[in-house]
Amino acid sequence: MSVTSIQQAILDGAPGERIAELPLPETMRAAVVRKAEMDHFDGVATEDRDPRKTLHVDEVPIPPLGPNEVLIAPMASALNYNTVWTSIFEPLPTFGFLERLGRESDLGARHDLPYHIVGSDAAAVVLRVGAGVTRWKPGDRVTVHCNDVDMQAPQGHEDSMLDPSQRIWGFETNFGSLADISLVKANQLMPMPAHLTWEEAASLGLVLATSYRMLIGQNAARMKQGDIVLIWGATGGLGGFATQLVLNGGGIPVCVVSSQDKVDLLRRVGVEHIIDRKAEGYRFETEDGTPDYAEMRRFGKQIRDLVGQDPDIVFEHPGRTTFGASVLVCKRGGTIVTCASTSGYLHEYDNRHLWMRLKRIIGSHFANYNEAWEANRLVSLGMVHPILSKTYPLDQAGQGAFEMHQNQHAGKIGILVGAPEEGLGVIDTERRARHLEGIEAYRSFG
Ligand code: NAP
Repeated sequence: MSVTSIQQAILDGAPGERIAELPLPETMRAAVVRKAEMDHFDGVATEDRDPRKTLHVDEVPIPPLGPNEVLIAPMASALNYNTVWTSIFEPLPTFGFLERLGRESDLGARHDLPYHIVGSDAAAVVLRVGAGVTRWKPGDRVTVHCNDVDMQAPQGHEDSMLDPSQRIWGFETNFGSLADISLVKANQLMPMPAHLTWEEAASLGLVLATSYRMLIGQNAARMKQGDIVLIWGATGGLGGFATQLVLNGGGIPVCVVSSQDKVDLLRRVGVEHIIDRKAEGYRFETEDGTPDYAEMRRFGKQIRDLVGQDPDIVFEHPGRTTFGASVLVCKRGGTIVTCASTSGYLHEYDNRHLWMRLKRIIGSHFANYNEAWEANRLVSLGMVHPILSKTYPLDQAGQGAFEMHQNQHAGKIGILVGAPEEGLGVIDTERRARHLEGIEAYRSFG
């Protein structure tokens, strides 16, 4: 049996019992980074490191299935910035994560391989379930969130993101979603929204759940109606969903982007207050690299001119180049919530602006199962829409990662894995028709 015949059976709508009977092949296609190429970019500047050179599609063995695990066939996946980091070996090669996991247990040792199968989002069909899995069965159509956690330590039982074993699937573990068959824990699965295509459903998980926790869940900024929320990168993966969540939740987004195309896109999805950081020429440090507070104040004044007050919440992820401004412009008593540092993780800000004005900085990372589930439910209800702008086949994953690294995209870049073309996988056509405008809003950008 080949992988393609399993994928064909799925496309033909074969029942779960039939899928459970289909023998699995010994090997499969997978997008991998090779350990032997770890020093490929030594001496090359970050911006010149090209993922197309290091992300390969190789034929590799199917991973063995353990207890509480599930083998899935991703019909589609999506790119996340973590695949950019893995493929350019920054800030560190991810093989260190796999080696550490390999030292922990026999099951962990499966992950420590000379190749790393990347990818942290999928819309997939369950092929096999391991011992102890009761909630899912072969044939189930699922989306996958990327919080890989054992739940054997006490700390995780209030919030699984606090579990010491917590890892991001397909980044800190092997066997990610850019492969014909992928290995996940049973507690990563969620029902696939029935009105979406494979590639649309695959494009949601990681960034939507991260934005949900940062803004809506009980663990970070806890936005309320009427809050002004400054959103950096408002048409990117995180920012595109943050914008929808703020609009849905009765907040007022102030969206920052870097081109007229992106301004136009935000206008189409109903955003009123937009700042084009490039057109405004914002640069928050001087030529000698010291913070430029006059420029940050100019930015703060523009926000106040737009919405009449400082932001209650600042949605941060660009990091070094924006963080000082985020702290300065945030309202007295407001919250800066951060989950990343794309432009550099050593930040400089004036701490007087923080303590004298009683602001809080909250670190946030992905989401627990419940937060991911709630975010997925909003999509199933048609209250949050995909932000997919472009889709590539698996063998062009490197091209997609290159575009992401160069900030040439908007929203999400999908990857077809088992699905031979875009547009397949929809079950609820009536709901789709009702939400078509929202679902396709980002398409014009691709
Ligand atoms: P993305 O799709 O590339 O979007 C990022 C957006 O940020 C871009 O569209 C860009 O918008 C803006 N941006 C980039 N550099 C900037 C700069 N120097 N100053 C101001 N804005 C800048 O990426 P993403 O998926 O949203 O992820 C963003 C970051 O978050 C990545 O570093 C990723 O690894 C991280 N992340 C962390 C978690 C977590 O759980 N901790 C989860 C998801 C993502 P404009 O050019 O239009 O302004």
